[in-house]
Amino acid sequence: MIENSSSLVLIQVICVLCIAATVAWIIMVTPMRVAPKASSRFALANLSILVGMLLYIQRTDDPSYLHWLVADMFILIGFCLLRWGAQRLYHLPSSHRYDLILLLTTGGLMLLAKPHVSSSAYLMIILSFSAATLFFMLAKDHYVALKANFTAFATYWLVIPIVAIGFMFFIRAFILMLYPEKVANYAAFNAKESIPILWTYIALILIVNILIIGNTINRLVVKIRTLANKDSLTGLFNRNALQHKLNTEYQRWLRDKVSYSVMVIDLDHFKNINDRYGHVAGDEVLKAVAQQLSTAIRKLDYLCRFGGEEFVLILPLTNEANVLKVAKKLQQTVAEIQLDWHGDTIPVEASIGCVTMKEGIDADDLLHLADKAMYQAKNSGRNCVKSANLVSLQTYSI
Ligand code: GH3
Ligand code: MG
Ligand code: MG
Repeated sequence: MIENSSSLVLIQVICVLCIAATVAWIIMVTPMRVAPKASSRFALANLSILVGMLLYIQRTDDPSYLHWLVADMFILIGFCLLRWGAQRLYHLPSSHRYDLILLLTTGGLMLLAKPHVSSSAYLMIILSFSAATLFFMLAKDHYVALKANFTAFATYWLVIPIVAIGFMFFIRAFILMLYPEKVANYAAFNAKESIPILWTYIALILIVNILIIGNTINRLVVKIRTLANKDSLTGLFNRNALQHKLNTEYQRWLRDKVSYSVMVIDLDHFKNINDRYGHVAGDEVLKAVAQQLSTAIRKLDYLCRFGGEEFVLILPLTNEANVLKVAKKLQQTVAEIQLDWHGDTIPVEASIGCVTMKEGIDADDLLHLADKAMYQAKNSGRNCVKSANLVSLQTYSI
């Protein structure tokens, strides 16, 4: 039992923090529905640590598996849940199996000692090593996930606190190994000497929860930003994103004068497809075209659904000769789509207009010129490519 009143107050603070964090994460699950599956794991993590703490403070001089082994396991399960929540949040591969082996090994090793204060150094060494491993792995998960969205500098700063917690447990285990008798008191919760450790626990709970709340919000922002730039039917970039990319390419052109091209791809007689096969079939055609075009282009090309049955492709580092070759290839790609619809094959064709950036063309005019070239392709019988060469127009038909 707790003899020291300062220790008792700090343990109460830890419990209040865990309760507050559990409630906050439950609110994230419902009604807010912010990353509900990950948030529910974070809520359970805090709850598990709280239960572990409540069992800890019941320790007496009597041997008790409940107040030693079970309490330690609750704390470790809480740390595992933090990891599983982060994996869910970032769509990382699950480490359930590995973590369960770690928990079982830790439990097995703890069973080798008497659940009593006389074995406290040994039990705490085992707990500390397991906790350090879990925090190092949690830091690794965060590093992998965060480096995709943040600069290297920001990623390090966000991961360092988690690594520091891992080191804290690691160092604690080593100190306990070197001075088991002397230091056991510092690591236990029921003495005056435990106050620095209790403060460390408070900092740990605060840091971990602040970090994961920040990461969850960041995840939400990234998702909203992605949705704002994506077309929901085809998954391609939308008009919003296109404007941004056009500006970026224009700025690069002003600086480097390396040509880039723009293509407008409009499906031919698409209204007839809707009228004949229905709107759902039309939607399937749009998805198939988006998918085939995406596979045919280079990684650095930028494909958008401009609206309806019209697509815009931005081709960085592409000159006039090359954009015509690509346009011809894409025209064939679309014509080769054989969408089977209830036993019928829906024919798909496209008219394509393209333009290459050069001196004298205004950034705002580029899309307009590609569109004009596309209409010229329509007027030339459709299913063909026109280049807004400005001097002479070239036609390619298959
Ligand atoms: P053209 O060869 O001259 O381009 O003729 P078109 O029929 O392809 O062009 P028009 O502009 O006359 O018709 C486009 C049609 O595309 C009309 C509209 O209902 C349909 N459409 C626009 N958005 C969608 C969509 O998201 N799904 C489906 N199924 N149809 C769409
Ligand atoms: Mg059309
Ligand atoms: Mg159109």
